[in-house]
Amino acid sequence: MPFAVTHVLITIIVIELIRDYLIKDKKNFPLYLVLIGGIVGLLPDIDYFLYWVIYAQFQIPILSVHRLFTHSVVWPAVFLIVTYWAYFKKNKKLLYWLLVIVIGLVLHIVLDSITGYAAMLAPFSYTLVGLNLLPDTEIGRSITLAIDAIILLAWLVYIEWRHKISQFI
Ligand SMILES: [Zn+2]
Repeated sequence: MPFAVTHVLITIIVIELIRDYLIKDKKNFPLYLVLIGGIVGLLPDIDYFLYWVIYAQFQIPILSVHRLFTHSVVWPAVFLIVTYWAYFKKNKKLLYWLLVIVIGLVLHIVLDSITGYAAMLAPFSYTLVGLNLLPDTEIGRSITLAIDAIILLAWLVYIEWRHKISQFI
């Protein structure tokens, strides 16, 4: 089960690498889209927020709410279709926005499915699918914390190497 930091960082790193190495016209792919991607990379866990606001008052267990509808591949699929449309309309700004959203959503579902599980096929099936490599145990949480630290350090080293961020401080 990755923590919020992992979701945000992995998405930011992937989108930044795409921006740095694959996108030629950075004018249509401004740096703030990397931040937008990080936010979208965390968005499926909004069901936690909904749980605290709504369900917790009724003593409904978190597992009956979390990683269900918001973790469905239906969301990225819908955005992918619109991305395809933006591609044909040659609307590059919209295309990059939608691409960032698709990447953020897909990475979230993939990360949750590798480290835990998610109801990817909701609302058609609520079967939880995943490898559950980092279960919600004390050891699993320790490893997740270590992964957070390693990813954060690797990203800081990368942006210093690539963008010399220390010059802006
Ligand atoms: Zn999640």
